[in-house]
Amino acid sequence: MKHAESESRRLQRLDRELVWHPYAASPPRGEIFPVTGASGVRLTLADGRELIDGMASWWCAIHGYNHPVLNRAVQRQLQDMAHVMFGGLTHPPAVKLAELLVRLTPEPLERVFFSDSGSVAVEVALKMAVQYQFARGMPRKQKMVALRGGYHGDTFGAMSVCDPVTGMHHLFGEVLARQHFVAAPETPFGQPCPEAEMREISDLLAEHHDEIAAVILEPVVQGAGGMHFYSADYLRKLRALCDAFDVLLIFDEIATGFGRTGKLFALEHAQVAPDILCLGKSLTGGYMTLAATLCSEEIATTISQGEGGAFMHGPTFMGNPLACATAIASIELLISQPWQREVQRIERALQEGLAPARSLAQVTDVRCLGAIGVIELKQAADLATVQAKFVEHGVWVRPFGRLVYCMPPFIMNDADIARVTAAMVAVVSEL
Ligand SMILES: *Cc1c(COP(=O)(O)O)cnc(C)c1O
Repeated sequence: MKHAESESRRLQRLDRELVWHPYAASPPRGEIFPVTGASGVRLTLADGRELIDGMASWWCAIHGYNHPVLNRAVQRQLQDMAHVMFGGLTHPPAVKLAELLVRLTPEPLERVFFSDSGSVAVEVALKMAVQYQFARGMPRKQKMVALRGGYHGDTFGAMSVCDPVTGMHHLFGEVLARQHFVAAPETPFGQPCPEAEMREISDLLAEHHDEIAAVILEPVVQGAGGMHFYSADYLRKLRALCDAFDVLLIFDEIATGFGRTGKLFALEHAQVAPDILCLGKSLTGGYMTLAATLCSEEIATTISQGEGGAFMHGPTFMGNPLACATAIASIELLISQPWQREVQRIERALQEGLAPARSLAQVTDVRCLGAIGVIELKQAADLATVQAKFVEHGVWVRPFGRLVYCMPPFIMNDADIARVTAAMVAVVSEL
């Protein structure tokens, strides 16, 4: 134990000296916790402590960690090949995964572009939209419309469609493309969206559609930009507006895809199909980095017949066989079980466990949808302090700003969910 503890300290010290962490100062302000293993819904820290994981590693680990089925998929694929370039070559995992994604997503989405991360999938989507408009003789249609409170990734194109305030656009001056923004819908999930809510975007499209390539948004759940759940009806009305003004519709389902909101894809709540769809995060069950951008055949054909005769993108690790094989295993594992029942069970457990937070003076809202539970605070909490408290409770929950939230792996049992939610209520009540 003594030895384990000193090794843990050494890791922490070297990490502080050498390694940059997500959205962090260097060295980071709070404590960084070394992990040496993860299995099921538990993370093992280097000092021997175990934490129940309420984050699914940022939406990804839907089946939990160290899953025998996913492990086997990696090992099997490793025997054939870990990677091979995708220019001029193809392989069974990529073809089979593309087939699966096309089958599971709505009708017009028939072509799959693989990339290495969610942000890149968004870059690809934006590029597709612009190249499509150019190829069909509309070279002025280059701008995007995005929602305030949205989050689409950290590369420059993706950043340009993230919320301008939380995305700190002012830090990046002229480098960032200027896009159009409209307020996110306020009508809550489950309610019809009044026409008045469409006015801002409708007016914007009416005035500027000749310079707008696409509207991009996260359907139903705005994730990292504020954990906001909104009316699915908004998406139906937006689809009609995009058609009327000849603008493409891009759904970013990188966070919501693969069951998280209670439907396989959040777009199913609205029964609306986009022209372009971005997938990532839980695509490989949290094992490897892989993302996909799907588009309609019309978009693919138009781009391919346009100037250049090709879509101008091609990551080195495009269609990585290990990642594709793991994604196939993860998706087949998901859809072969009654996962809807599990997500509904988690939603009920989250509702019940987080309910006591409603009466706390520090709290403005408590909301749950699918396997997502959110406590919204009146004031931002100090992350370092709050994070350390969660670890003391034996739970891994990482808040940001005014949001204390969890999105557990779908395999988490009710007792563990109760511990996660009890820790959330306890930590918030001590603020
Ligand atoms: C996380 C996320 C991204 C970016 O994905 P990365 O893999 O982190 O690049 C884009 N869009 C949404 C909705 C996300 O949640």
